[in-house]
Amino acid sequence: MKIVFATNNKNKLHEIREILGNNFEIVSLNDIGCHEDIPETGNTLEENALQKARYVYDKYHIDCFADDTGLEVEALGGAPGVHSARYAEGTDHDSEANMRKLLYELRYDKNRKAQFRTVIALILHGELHEFEGLVRGKIGTEKHGTEGFGYDPLFIPEGYDESFAELGDDVKNKISHRARAVRKLADYLVKSHLKT
Ligand code: IMP
Repeated sequence: MKIVFATNNKNKLHEIREILGNNFEIVSLNDIGCHEDIPETGNTLEENALQKARYVYDKYHIDCFADDTGLEVEALGGAPGVHSARYAEGTDHDSEANMRKLLYELRYDKNRKAQFRTVIALILHGELHEFEGLVRGKIGTEKHGTEGFGYDPLFIPEGYDESFAELGDDVKNKISHRARAVRKLADYLVKSHLKT
């Protein structure tokens, strides 16, 4: 069964292929010849994930799914949330600038509670399905660790004393927001595949 994952991010493709095994052929946007920048103009993670999946489905008519992720910080009313990639003004995926801004915004806050949340929108046989994964934790007072990406050096998951960037991929891929959402997607795909 062939499904498009609306991304060209190699880490994400690798992660999902590992979880899904050989029952599914997961192809990327490059693989189907889609080279344009898919718009992400929604106000929520759900809207963005659906927008990306719908774009691919309408244009290529292949079953597909898309994800969107945000870091939601309690003391900041859920920010940066859907704006996580461009939190620092005038930047795009500049993790250092984003983390600097986050530490600055939280400089007087004792409440460091935060969560990473991933939403996956799947369009299978024309029907929409959504899956959510989240991991709770807190924002450290300084960066620690070198692994991972994005806000990983600042995010300390619940039950651990180290940041995602210190814990590394083995731990992260077991407990992360994305791994949890992907496992729900995988369970659903396997079940619906068994029915057909
Ligand atoms: P995207 O949905 O994968 O594009 O993620 C949006 C932004 O959220 C990224 O640019 C990162 O800054 C941040 N982000 C997403 N996933 C993670 C993660 O697993 N660790 C740290 N930051 C992440």
